[in-house]
Amino acid sequence: MRITPPRDLADWRRNWPHAGAAEKVLMALEGAGGEGRFVGGCVRDALLGRRIRDIDIATNLDPQAVIAALEAAHLRAVPTGIKHGTITAVADHVGFEVTTLRHDIETYGRHAKVAFTDDWQADAARRDLSMNALFCDAAGTIHDYFGGLADLAAGRVRFVGDAAQRMDEDYLRILRFFRFHADYAQGDFDAAAILAATQRRHELKRLSGERLRQETLKLLVARRGIEVWGEMLMRDFAAAYLPWATSQDRLVKVAALETRLHLKPDPIRRLAALAVTGCGPDIAETLKLSNAERDRLLAASGIRASFDIADTRIVHRQIYVLGNDRARDQVLLDWEPGPGEGGWHGAFEIVQSWPRPTFPLAGRDLIKLGLAAGPELGAKLAEIEQWWIDGDFTADAAACLAEAKKKIAR
Ligand code: ATP
Ligand code: MG
Repeated sequence: MRITPPRDLADWRRNWPHAGAAEKVLMALEGAGGEGRFVGGCVRDALLGRRIRDIDIATNLDPQAVIAALEAAHLRAVPTGIKHGTITAVADHVGFEVTTLRHDIETYGRHAKVAFTDDWQADAARRDLSMNALFCDAAGTIHDYFGGLADLAAGRVRFVGDAAQRMDEDYLRILRFFRFHADYAQGDFDAAAILAATQRRHELKRLSGERLRQETLKLLVARRGIEVWGEMLMRDFAAAYLPWATSQDRLVKVAALETRLHLKPDPIRRLAALAVTGCGPDIAETLKLSNAERDRLLAASGIRASFDIADTRIVHRQIYVLGNDRARDQVLLDWEPGPGEGGWHGAFEIVQSWPRPTFPLAGRDLIKLGLAAGPELGAKLAEIEQWWIDGDFTADAAACLAEAKKKIAR
């Protein structure tokens, strides 16, 4: 991969969203006699010219000093994770996580006891991968203590230190290894890492659902995430913590459709594609999905009435019942590629262009017409709604009201 170290901070600024705001934070830390450096994903992705999601800053000031430094520079300081050394600095309405340098005192496979330090290299040493351990200072200079630049350029996803030991410190690194491999690697798995990971794959189920969720969803939308999940299935990693997510062929199909149809890769849809029918609840539970994610997964991975693509009116009805998002999920999951796929294409176009309508009448409209509140009113309303549905949702409020009058008069 081509990496272009910046010449100076002005060079970064061209590619970084919010670089100006981030700089204000660095200046504030410097103003208090400390130093701030960009670290982790933002440095890695900036070097590759990839879009940056969020900017993390490391500092040699302790959290209380960070708060004081930010306030002295008239920036807002929010103690979002002060126990772990993280203060969120707000500059120009953008939040930046500012974390005090740390080193590990003890690790337990799921948790670590850490202490603050002013040693940049010690902080780099507790990061997982060499490409994630790069710092960039206010002058734009890269600080690379563990060969991360060379690894990044060569597409080597490699641990800082001994892979086996680093995984024992935190088993989540097994999944992170696969995720970063899927996003950044060229060629095969790092031999030491895949061996260590294989020996430890049964530890994955000991991790918290929240952590598993985050890495799994990111992995599923990583550049080569589909291929890497296939490897994880073959090597028994997927089974070790998510034995219900094995429908690789359907995942491959759905991902290919997303690309073809210019849809943003969607991790929940991809998870639903992987899910063995009826196993959505197990997956949602294991990954501690949010309620919205869970509902969508269950709708897409349960036993579905087959999506009827035969005629526009039927597709409209399905959209009315499911809503556009779930209808879209269902079209993609059930899509049968091949010469006869024109109908699927048609259904997809309708889902994209025909927003689910809302029934224009409510109970109060019938009350105004003289009906009393109660079950009878409900039944009448349902009758008119059915009439509206049968008419392919074309009747507007006035037409529905006219129909209501007719029905009541009868
Ligand atoms: P992205 O946000 O694009 O997923 P990132 O590199 O920012 O990538 P995060 O998960 O946000 O990844 O973590 C930020 C940084 O914190 C990483 O770059 C890495 O240096 C460090 N890190 C995160 N999780 C771990 C971990 N489990 N073990 C060691 N270091 C970690
Ligand atoms: Mg990040």
